[in-house]
Amino acid sequence: MTNKLRYFIGNWKMFGDFGSFKIIHKINQFSHESKNQFKKKIILCVPNTLIYFFKKKLKSKIISLGVQNCHYHQGYGPFTGSVNASMLKKAGAEFIILGHSENRSEGETNQLIKKKIKSALKEKLNIIFCIGETFKEKKKGKTFSILKKQIRSSLEKKFNISKIIFAYEPVWSIGTNKIPKMNELENTIKFIKNELKKTFKTKKSPKVLYGGSVNDKNICLFSLISEIDGFLIGGASQYPKKFIDIVKNYYK
Ligand code: PEP
Repeated sequence: MTNKLRYFIGNWKMFGDFGSFKIIHKINQFSHESKNQFKKKIILCVPNTLIYFFKKKLKSKIISLGVQNCHYHQGYGPFTGSVNASMLKKAGAEFIILGHSENRSEGETNQLIKKKIKSALKEKLNIIFCIGETFKEKKKGKTFSILKKQIRSSLEKKFNISKIIFAYEPVWSIGTNKIPKMNELENTIKFIKNELKKTFKTKKSPKVLYGGSVNDKNICLFSLISEIDGFLIGGASQYPKKFIDIVKNYYK
């Protein structure tokens, strides 16, 4: 079993109401009970409508809470239906997912994501920055060039990289039950880490997670790749047992 810190981050997507607090409670309890057993950090990224309520209700909190996107603008402004990083921070968010492919597919560009990262960093939010290629790009052998472009066009060298966790999420793997071949995944994670070290001129790479159809069975395969610092878990994070079993089975 590894003695390195591992991240298990849930992305609830568009899911949940106030009653869903029971899921948060169960996962928090598990995190408490196993705190000396596994060196882990659990973060649940929930809809904006729930962050304040969950934060207030969760008394002895060992897990962290986050959100899933924000508007790039820093102050208030004429952006109907949007919320900015500062509003989310004040509502209780500690983490924020940015660059998720479900938002990229709605038109979010690398340039727009850069503005969002900038504003989230200003608010001292911790960022989970998603990158990943589509199936078409993979078939054309463009995975590495796409990842490089996503990294270089959304990040500036002066950004506080220690506030950013990277999540490699091949778009074709999200919600599809398809996962990469383990040797390809290992190479890709190594590529991302090298790229980050080169770009930010650091000796140690920032954390790089994997996301895409992670479940309580396939986690055993992923656990063999020591370069993966943790997981971004979508669908399965909406079910406490599935999420907890992923964590438990990772350490088996
Ligand atoms: C995600 O939404 O980031 C994700 C990885 O989803 P899933 O685990 O459902 O594939």
